[in-house]
Amino acid sequence: MKPTTPYRPLDVTVPFPELTAYARTATRLHPRPGAPSAADSHVGGPLLWPEDEAWPECREHGRVRGVRPRRARRYEEILAAAAARPRPADGSGWAYTAAERAEVQAMTDAGHQPDEHDGSPLPLLALAQFHARDVPDLAAFAPPGTDLVQVLWCPFAGHEDGSYSHFGPSTRLFWRRAADVTNPLSVQPEPPIVERTWYLPVPCVLHPEQVTEYPWADYLPPALVSRIEAWEDDIEARVGRDAAPTYQYDLSIAPGWKIGGWDSWHRTDLVRLHCEACGAGMRPLLTMDRCESQASWGPFPGPGCPTGVTAGRDEYRAFVCPADPTHPHRMSAQ
Ligand SMILES: [Zn+2]
Ligand SMILES: [Zn+2]
Repeated sequence: MKPTTPYRPLDVTVPFPELTAYARTATRLHPRPGAPSAADSHVGGPLLWPEDEAWPECREHGRVRGVRPRRARRYEEILAAAAARPRPADGSGWAYTAAERAEVQAMTDAGHQPDEHDGSPLPLLALAQFHARDVPDLAAFAPPGTDLVQVLWCPFAGHEDGSYSHFGPSTRLFWRRAADVTNPLSVQPEPPIVERTWYLPVPCVLHPEQVTEYPWADYLPPALVSRIEAWEDDIEARVGRDAAPTYQYDLSIAPGWKIGGWDSWHRTDLVRLHCEACGAGMRPLLTMDRCESQASWGPFPGPGCPTGVTAGRDEYRAFVCPADPTHPHRMSAQ
C-alpha cells in the first residue's frame, strides 16, 4: 500500500488567499525499507554510476575511529531475526539463539573499542539517487540535459569544505543524464568505516508524492503572520489546544525526506542562504529528515522513521543555487 499524506485539516489559502503567491510544490519521497536497484530512485541503494568514472573519495581524515558498515548491518540483521520470533515465555527479552546472543555480546564488548581506520582515503558512501521521471519536483532544479541526481557523503562530521556541513557529513551532488550511463559500475565501493551508524542508510525504495507547501512564518510579511496568529488563537479558543491545527506544524511544511518545497527553521533562527558564486538566494533541493510522521502529516502506513539516517538534530538539507544548479551547494541543519 502506497504511503500517502492524510487529507489536510483545512485549506489555509481559504482564510489567507495571499499565501497562494508563496505556494511551492514539494515531492515527499516516503522511503520504505526494500531492495532498490541501480535503475531505481532510492535511498541507500546502488547508484547508476559509469564504470569508467572514478568513485569520489575524502582525504580529510587520518586514523579515525568509528563503526564498520558490515558490523552495523550484521547487528541489525540479528535484531530483525530475533524480533521476528515469539518472545521467550520467561520474559527474558529478545528471542536470540545462543549463537546470536554470543555474537551480540562480542559486538557490545567491541563497541567499547571502536574500529580504527588505517588513514587511507575514504571512498564516499552512496546516500541516494533521484530520477526526474519519479520525482516531479526534481526537473525544476536539474541542469539542462540532466535527469538524475546522485548524493554521496563522507560519513564523518566536522568537514571544513565550505558547504556549511559542520553539523553532519560532507555531501557531494552529481547530476547526470541516466541514458548516458551505458556501462554501469557493478560493484559499488563504500567506506570501510563510518563515524555513526546513523550515517549509514537503510536501503529504501521510494513512494514519491507531490504536495503543496507554504513558507516558514519568518519568510512572510509580519502583518500577515500577526493575522495568522490571531486566527490560530481564535480556533484554539473554540476547539481546544489539542484539536487546533497550527499553521507552522500542520498546514505549511511537510516533514520527512523530500525534494523541493520550503525549509523549516524549528531549531534555530531563520538563516537566508545565498550562493557563494553569484549571490542568489538558495533553495532547498533535498531535505533529509529523521522521521516523517510529525503533527498532521504522518502518512499511512508508517513506519515514521524509515531510513535510519540522522544528521543535524533532525533535518539536514542541501540548498542549491536557482540561477545555476552547478554552483556549489550548501548544507543546513535543523
Ligand atoms: Zn570526510
Ligand atoms: Zn549561484
